[in-house]
Amino acid sequence: MARILHRSIGQPLPHAASAQGVYITDTEGRRYLDGSGGAAVTSVGHGHPEVLAAMRAQIDNLCYAHTGFFTTDAAEELAEQLVKLAPDGLDYVYLVSGGSEAVEAALKMARQYFVETGRPERRHIIARRQSYHGNTLGALATGGNAMRRQQFQPLLPQTHHVSPCYAYRDKGSDESPEAYAARLADELEAKILELGPESVMAFVAEPVVGATLGAVASEADYFKRVRKICDQHGVLLILDEVMCGMGRTGTMFACEQDGITPDILTVAKGLGGGYQPIGAVLLSSAIFDSFANGSGLFQHGHTYLGHPVAAAAANKVVEIIARPETLANVNAMGARLQSGLEAALGASPYVGDIRGRGLFRGIELVADREQKTPFDPARKIHAKIKRQAMARGLISYPMGGTIDGVYGDHVLLAPPYTIQADEIDFLIERITQAIDAAIA
Ligand code: PMP
Repeated sequence: MARILHRSIGQPLPHAASAQGVYITDTEGRRYLDGSGGAAVTSVGHGHPEVLAAMRAQIDNLCYAHTGFFTTDAAEELAEQLVKLAPDGLDYVYLVSGGSEAVEAALKMARQYFVETGRPERRHIIARRQSYHGNTLGALATGGNAMRRQQFQPLLPQTHHVSPCYAYRDKGSDESPEAYAARLADELEAKILELGPESVMAFVAEPVVGATLGAVASEADYFKRVRKICDQHGVLLILDEVMCGMGRTGTMFACEQDGITPDILTVAKGLGGGYQPIGAVLLSSAIFDSFANGSGLFQHGHTYLGHPVAAAAANKVVEIIARPETLANVNAMGARLQSGLEAALGASPYVGDIRGRGLFRGIELVADREQKTPFDPARKIHAKIKRQAMARGLISYPMGGTIDGVYGDHVLLAPPYTIQADEIDFLIERITQAIDAAIA
């Protein structure tokens, strides 16, 4: 009898045995194309020889030294590389062990920044509905996914939510993208004013919404307006790139395409690439200086932060992502995936929208294309797609659920950056079959 508490109890899972490149093989010898990189984790592919060599070298020398006593070359080099690649203005790095930890640390950094600078009344966090920022209580409270939150209420009382930038469902048919972006920015500003600007700590958002909406990027201008409003009211801007960062959308950081730099930025999944659990928080000098000139301490920490083997693996993963040919492939294969999905599914009465950036693509499913009516939740279309795809040798990441009263099924596709054209074509063929079979 299985003794692991699996997330979905009672659902038998195949046992993964080995993985190489874009494929995972189970103990029965079945091979799956990793079309979603797990949950947008596998960035440089499975079993990358350079990452394995970097990890081996680190393991042979040092597996652990507590960061209260030592720093390590691996952690220092990773931080330096991230700062070099990050947009100007993100000058320091705090290492953690995953996405929720990164968001949690980011929130506490923002809080401590205002405490250190004599403004402890700044404590309200504004995020967006239909967002996901992690499972720990602070990150869960920040996320705006009503379905995930409901069982754990009451959560942090100082968390508030505004509308996401979700043009497919929310932009008026005669509303220009600029007017839509302005309307949403106005909503954010109204919330700041309602709470009282001097009491607002941070606005938190994913540049491209991953798990909850399925690769929804913002309209041009939206984040520029958000940045301006945050600046005007002294509110810190935290961008959560745990899922969409580290090359996933075709640039190293997703916010590069939105033309802004946040005060704090979180990354995790693609950073570890599946090799080791790791996350990172990038922060501005202003925040760092407030700690350095104040208590001299960031009042937060985990035993495994900056783990040298995780840092060595991530350092090599980042080096590989930063090679021009890697992002060139993300962009070329991302375009092939988008146009191939449009050709295969664009005319389907059940496909409302196909979207995304780079190798981060989403398909939104609807019962009625004209009305954009979602499927009845009881049909569990997303769960059926996942099973149908796996039966056809494809890992995909379908999601669904009642989110703030809006039900939606979507499929997230996020294959490794090393994927080739014939593998993209296989992915498109199999996800099309899986969607057809799930809805039939
Ligand atoms: N933020 C975002 C945007 C995420 O997508 C996720 C994970 N899906 C998290 C935070 C939490 O990351 P983790 O599961 O590594 O804790």
